[in-house]
Amino acid sequence: MDLFLYNTLTRQKEKFEPYHENEVKMYTCGPTVYWTQHIGNMFAYICADVFKRTLTFAGYHVNHVMGITDVGHLVSDDDTGEDKMEKGARNEGISAWDLAKKYTDQFFADTKSLNIIKPPITCKATDYIQEQIDAVKTLEEKGFTYKTSDGIYFDSIKDPTYGELAKLDIEGLCAGERVEMAEKKCKTDFALWKFSPKNEQRQMEWDSPWGVGFPGWHIECSSFCLSQFGEQVDIHTGGIDHIPVHHTNEIAQNKGITGHRVVKYWLHNNFLVRADGKKLSKSSGDKVFLQDYIEKGYDPLAVRYLALTAHYRTPIKFSEDLVKMAQTALERLNEKVVGLKKDAPAPTKTKETNKWLDELKTVLFDDFNTAQAMTVLRDAINDSSLSSEEKLYITYEADRVFGLDLGKEKTIEIPEKVKMMAGQRLIARQQQNWALSDIIRDQIDEAGFVIKDTANGYELKEK
Ligand code: AMP
Ligand code: ZN
Repeated sequence: MDLFLYNTLTRQKEKFEPYHENEVKMYTCGPTVYWTQHIGNMFAYICADVFKRTLTFAGYHVNHVMGITDVGHLVSDDDTGEDKMEKGARNEGISAWDLAKKYTDQFFADTKSLNIIKPPITCKATDYIQEQIDAVKTLEEKGFTYKTSDGIYFDSIKDPTYGELAKLDIEGLCAGERVEMAEKKCKTDFALWKFSPKNEQRQMEWDSPWGVGFPGWHIECSSFCLSQFGEQVDIHTGGIDHIPVHHTNEIAQNKGITGHRVVKYWLHNNFLVRADGKKLSKSSGDKVFLQDYIEKGYDPLAVRYLALTAHYRTPIKFSEDLVKMAQTALERLNEKVVGLKKDAPAPTKTKETNKWLDELKTVLFDDFNTAQAMTVLRDAINDSSLSSEEKLYITYEADRVFGLDLGKEKTIEIPEKVKMMAGQRLIARQQQNWALSDIIRDQIDEAGFVIKDTANGYELKEK
């Protein structure tokens, strides 16, 4: 079955045709590791994970690379302001290297909790300094650069297709206001290599043919892609905020270096937004970090579930109430699947399951419509003409993309005290002492557990 995806470059849904049959080279811009990524950021990685899982489900072998920005991302997108890493390190009183390690580890702990499959290759900007210097040298040799007092810049007017991703009017932008441009020739020109400030020793700086300094933010992603994949990349992912600057500049660099387009399909996720429609960000107030929710007892997969309930190209509302609702919905779905497992020892593939899987593929291969795919799964589970074995088979197949651990029974630690109370209650019931049995039930309830009577005795569950 063909797969269609929305390519930001053409603003159209296109049939997916990778450079090499059955093989996908996919790149994702990763986090800038100067602080904890908030749930909005994590949504971008859930999307990339869903793209990857869907492509794998479709039978492709996916090579996935993610970049880690641990140097060069300045506070402002127009190449001014401090490096986010140096600023973060100063604020926390630790070295920029320790800061990078701290937040990279935190990031991967969070992606693990969200069942995001870790890309087999992750590239740190500080490990690719030579590759970035080489890339800038190539651009210099080909006449795409100029020097100012603070760095080497890309001369965007030299690229006739500059801004095609964001549909920018480069002529207009270059002829326009000359504010906030410093020595830049055009507003859209951007730093490839920045010199270290004259009277300041940066923690992260390197020698280069142009002087001591550090790479610009955009050149790292071109360097990672070209080093890892060569000159043909099938899919590049990221949030919509990267369209006008970061990805626009990456395209310009790639074209300057190779002489042709490198990335075939550009996929961009929309934002996770607050109730008032504003983008979720660090300054949105409290509870924007996954850890906040985990500490409050939420299942991190409830956040993943919530992310799957809408299409990735539409803004998705996010609030604690919605996480709570998602958690209830996920628990209900999971209970049904656990029930199926009890009924059916083995998931079974049949003619009927093939029909349902085709339906699932139809929606998933239509630009990754996870919301519809969840409806298909729910309909299959509720279809009385299907056996439990068939339902289980469809569920497990769908969960290859959803990544919700459906059917996994949570192992809960029942405290000794609660187990003892349950034992005493069983004795009270055998002695037909219903009053005592009720008192103990209330005590168990207060301890945070629910006791259910079964044919063999009782079952304890967390409330
Ligand atoms: P950054 O570390 O700022 O480069 O952001 C990491 C990723 O998160 C980028 O792909 C951003 O586009 C994405 N992102 C940032 N905020 C949000 C949000 N509220 N919703 C969805 N994605 C976001
Ligand atoms: Zn990038």
